[in-house]
Amino acid sequence: MTKPLVDVSRDFPILNRTINGHRLVWLDSAATSQKPTAVLKAVERYYEESNANVLRSVHTLASEATEEFNAARAKVAGFIGANRPEEVIFTRGTTEGLNLVARGFGDQVVHGGDEIVLSPMEHHSNLIPWQQLARRQGATLRYIQLAPDGTISLEALEQAITPKTRIVALSRISNVLGTINPIREAADLVHRHGGYLIVDGAQSVPHEPTRVEELGADFLAFSGHKMCAPTGIGALWGKHALLDQMEPVIFGGEMISYVDREEATWAEIPAKFEGGTPNIAGAIGLGAAVDYLNQVGMEAIFEHSRSLGEKAFQVLQGIDGVSVYGPASPHAGAVAFNIDGIHPHDVAQVFDAQGVAIRAGHHCAQPLMQWLGVGSTARASFYLYNGDEDIERLKEAILETKRYFRR
Ligand code: PMP
Repeated sequence: MTKPLVDVSRDFPILNRTINGHRLVWLDSAATSQKPTAVLKAVERYYEESNANVLRSVHTLASEATEEFNAARAKVAGFIGANRPEEVIFTRGTTEGLNLVARGFGDQVVHGGDEIVLSPMEHHSNLIPWQQLARRQGATLRYIQLAPDGTISLEALEQAITPKTRIVALSRISNVLGTINPIREAADLVHRHGGYLIVDGAQSVPHEPTRVEELGADFLAFSGHKMCAPTGIGALWGKHALLDQMEPVIFGGEMISYVDREEATWAEIPAKFEGGTPNIAGAIGLGAAVDYLNQVGMEAIFEHSRSLGEKAFQVLQGIDGVSVYGPASPHAGAVAFNIDGIHPHDVAQVFDAQGVAIRAGHHCAQPLMQWLGVGSTARASFYLYNGDEDIERLKEAILETKRYFRR
């Protein structure tokens, strides 16, 4: 029996809600996670006691806010095993981080005739910035061939990554299939050819212990809101030397060293990439989320997400008329499925009537839907506050949906 890893009713008040007469079952954490009280309190306390702009004024509140903001950066750096806090750039989330790299770094290293390697399972935010870069520079996009079960083999990596590859952009964990991609192997290959690896960690950083050096990435982007932090905050980690080399993309206050009427020079990293007033409360909330996740333990969270994902896969596969996508294992948190003859949006609607929240649609991964040969899917995703009981509710919801549509 797998129980939630935390005291759900104490830590996640929102999960005490009743939806349409049923206890809310939150199976949409891959879209966004719920936020523990510790995070909500940290944000509230900041606004109640220390609210001020950071890195500017010398008064007491400004020093407190700056200290907390810097402490949050150090916590995030520690969480992913970064060597130095300044390698962590605060962003709005994964999308902004990947766009920053494609613009500020991609334009420097990718030129006409070069190749950018992607996988067909990428989220649009790890796809479109590279399409745009390829168009700007006259480069070619190449796609890693997926195995029939949706995984990426070493042979497929070897076929896709060549001496022409300048950038490989790959998600560590798929937001649709929950599969785990061989990032270390991709890093070794692309580095051998003198290229760079950019990792979309939107689904992996919340679910598995992350050590950037072991991962082998040159850049890693992720979002706070999928790891118990508020929306509007995320981080881009990059190797120090590459961030030094990378051009800023957002110009304005706080990112400069010197400005005259004609020219400007840039501040050191991370400030160089953080023009304008940052999301201070969000960063502090992210710091609190990191503390919370560390307390639970990332190893335990990984085992938990994986065990629930794989159990759900088995249960769904055992229901007549249900198609489940991807391999039986691994499923780190997310499982995509369809019920024969019923549109996923209708599935999600009937689920909602039973208090079960899932996502239906293309999951911002249309090329993956094309590869699967479907327009859309339903998706159940799990996190530290879910347990076996929620899988039971998922199963009941499917049976009820089938009865409702007489399938
Ligand atoms: N990549 C993946 C794999 C994701 O799951 C998501 C969020 N669904 C993103 C990128 C984009 O994250 P955000 O919307 O927080 O920028």
